[in-house]
Amino acid sequence: MFGKIPGMTFKGNYGQGAGRSVQTSSGAGGGGGGLARGAGVALPILLSGGGFGTVLVVLVLLWLFGGLGGGGQQPAPNQGQHQTQSQGGYNLEHCDQAGAQNEYADCRAAATFESVHDIWSHVLPEQAGLEYREPNMHLFQNSVTTGCGHASSDTGPFYCPRDETAYLDVSFFDQLTQLGGSAGPLAQEYATAHEMGHHIQNIEGTLGLSDYKNPGEDSAAVAIELQADCYAGIWANYAQRQDILEPVTDQQLNEAIQTARAIGDDNIQRRSGGDVDPDAWTHGSSEERSRAFMSGYQTGKMSACDTLNRGVYRD
Ligand SMILES: [Zn+2]
Repeated sequence: MFGKIPGMTFKGNYGQGAGRSVQTSSGAGGGGGGLARGAGVALPILLSGGGFGTVLVVLVLLWLFGGLGGGGQQPAPNQGQHQTQSQGGYNLEHCDQAGAQNEYADCRAAATFESVHDIWSHVLPEQAGLEYREPNMHLFQNSVTTGCGHASSDTGPFYCPRDETAYLDVSFFDQLTQLGGSAGPLAQEYATAHEMGHHIQNIEGTLGLSDYKNPGEDSAAVAIELQADCYAGIWANYAQRQDILEPVTDQQLNEAIQTARAIGDDNIQRRSGGDVDPDAWTHGSSEERSRAFMSGYQTGKMSACDTLNRGVYRD
């Protein structure tokens, strides 16, 4: 038995060894990201001032013509078969240790990824009448090549609908604290669960409504992001109810809220020295993001997350 680790969230040995279901790679450092925008857009958890390069047309073309270079097999959308790939010396062997999922940020992300299946595989059919299919997760260091282009760690976590994969470099959690967010366990899990929320939207067929080129507080982009925050709240609700997580403490909840607020567009605009301009928002304000997470967390209902006013959910 090991003692109670501060910040422990996963119950018992839940998620131990979850690193095996996650792909890993370590890319070259430096260089800006070049995630494809537009059709097949990647959805990062926040849009910071700079750091977003142009579309890498070549990569998009490579995608269209069946694969990216580098010898790696493109992870195709699949029905639950995870290919474990490890490139560049980064692997998750340490996630096999007892308690690793409560100790290391990358193992925690992998455990969160695993728990997404246990939750959404029944929530989605029950509440939306849709069949769930498993996404992929890819933890990387420095930079990564994806179905949506090349991205550096500066991008923050993102979901690429083309390969149905969530990408995360856990160094993001340091970035987050610089923005005033928390790196507490539930706050980290929220980030992973948010990206998985985009996968749910991809299954729902609504993800393509997001268009960062048409921003604004009433935009579809903001509605999609707030819904993903709300879906992350649903994840937390069920993770607790299904005994995946230890009971969520007030402190953990506050840390998740603190993080949702930190990545609000108004906070990011303020911190990058600009004026608060709601017409440029893509993800929603601090207030909206934290409220969206709480709506999902308190209700566990997709109907409470219906920012697109579709009216299709069953309670
Ligand atoms: Zn997002």
